[in-house]
Amino acid sequence: MIIDCHSHIFEFPGHISRAFADEANARSRGKPIGLHVPPERHWQGMQNVDKAIVFGMRAFHSGIISPNEYIADYVKMHPEKLIGFAAVDPMQDDVHETLEHAIEGLKLRGVKLGPIYQNIHPLDERMMPVYEFCERRNLPILIHQGTTFPQNAPLKFSLPILLEDIAMKHPRLKMIIAHMGHPWIDETIVLIRKQPNFFADISALHYRPWQFYNALILAKEYGVLHKLLFGSDFPFTTPDATMDSLRNFNHIAEGTNLPKLANEEIEMLIHSPTLDLLELN
Ligand SMILES: [Zn+2]
Repeated sequence: MIIDCHSHIFEFPGHISRAFADEANARSRGKPIGLHVPPERHWQGMQNVDKAIVFGMRAFHSGIISPNEYIADYVKMHPEKLIGFAAVDPMQDDVHETLEHAIEGLKLRGVKLGPIYQNIHPLDERMMPVYEFCERRNLPILIHQGTTFPQNAPLKFSLPILLEDIAMKHPRLKMIIAHMGHPWIDETIVLIRKQPNFFADISALHYRPWQFYNALILAKEYGVLHKLLFGSDFPFTTPDATMDSLRNFNHIAEGTNLPKLANEEIEMLIHSPTLDLLELN
């Protein structure tokens, strides 16, 4: 089974400010991304995966405000394939009320956070109710902990190592560090190696081939390939392009003595047992 653990839907205009969209397009390696990602576009993009975790984002500071109802309405159309995560902005939202409604009322099954977009330290006291809520109810958190393009998104809140205290305090909390915490991939690897319930996704890394190569080889050397989850970051790239890059992973090392991944390791990454690891079955 192939599970995309990291995919987005957004309405634009509506959920994303013009300023954010302009900056995203200006930094998008040549071609505009097209941030209008309604359910139909997402559904089309997920044709070649068996399941997909889908979410929006709530980050008032960055001009991204998705209603959790929008995710829930889409998931209800394809409950056999889609798993929806809630979004909450601890700077603005009433955390308990927002999550209670999203989980109990809307039947969403995990939570998306992005401290760098939300302009909040991951250990800020306003974040604590999110971790407590999710640990108590066994809800995984997918956290964007790593860099991102907007000028006003502070890097100082985005270091993966900042999450260590959360793991210490909430040992049963399941957390997925998006994009292996790029560029602090080594921090992410040593953190997920220590913390049994911490994982990382490989989404949106393959289009920096040298970084992608080093990330997965380092993960292999530390023995954490089994803690990496397959994901795309759709619409920024696609599950198909991510699978292609994985299956062509060793090309960069061909004709050299550089280390490679075995085919079984590559297929294990594509077929990561995400639902079992996150207890979402
Ligand atoms: Zn993403």
